[in-house]
Amino acid sequence: MKVDTGFLESLRLGGEFDARLCMNCGTCTALCPLGLEILPRRLFRHALLGDRERVLGESEAIFSCLLCRLCEANCPAGVHIAENVRSLRVVLNGEARGLAEA
Ligand code: SF4
Ligand code: SF4
Repeated sequence: MKVDTGFLESLRLGGEFDARLCMNCGTCTALCPLGLEILPRRLFRHALLGDRERVLGESEAIFSCLLCRLCEANCPAGVHIAENVRSLRVVLNGEARGLAEA
């Protein structure tokens, strides 16, 4: 895994990114109407670790999320899941713009 130490900072430019409290309990996965198992239990963790490549490789899951907040409303750790997804989208959109302008 290649660690990008600036990745978490770039996520915070898109808004708060507060996945550290996640206990990996699985409640969000059980409630998600799309069964987005990767969000947030794995993808948020990869983001916290600075694994930029792995996160960017999961853009389909990031853009599939309905932002319905069913997961968030029942998260025992109070993680702002939908806002975190929005932050990931901001970063992904920035990457896509950068590629288009290159
Ligand atoms: S419900 Fe909250 S604490 Fe549980 S896995 Fe999902 S984000 Fe983490
Ligand atoms: S906000 Fe996204 S991850 Fe959470 S339950 Fe809705 S679709 Fe699933």
